[in-house]
Amino acid sequence: MNYSLIKALDPNFKYDDYMLSQAVERVRSCGVRLERTPRDELERRGFRVEFASLSVAGQVIWGRVDLIAKIVYVDLEAVNVLIERSNEQGGESLDLTVAVNLVLAHELYHVIDRCTHYDSVTELAAIVFALQYSKGCPELA
Ligand SMILES: [Zn+2]
Repeated sequence: MNYSLIKALDPNFKYDDYMLSQAVERVRSCGVRLERTPRDELERRGFRVEFASLSVAGQVIWGRVDLIAKIVYVDLEAVNVLIERSNEQGGESLDLTVAVNLVLAHELYHVIDRCTHYDSVTELAAIVFALQYSKGCPELA
């Protein structure tokens, strides 16, 4: 598992191996076959993607899903911060397409999981799912 990219995706990184294994198991049990791009999969499920400014002072927000209105919002400025952070963490160098796909895949996980209680494991599962979806994750293949 690529911790540096998880750290870039969650700057408040506070996960241990046990939480990570719980998150991996949760992603595995959602049993989704990933045959489309995250955007196509969202659209297939009746969601549309919009670009919007989501971040507020002191908090960078890459994306957000409105499960009722069926809209996934992506903050492109925040996505550029994500790219910078990932580069700073070493390892992964993301391009804009991959980074946007990570955000869309993360929000797609929330659509699939339909979990309205956003605990740490849910967030970590969404990150694991996004990594698996966008970059490939051998542990989950
Ligand atoms: Zn999330």
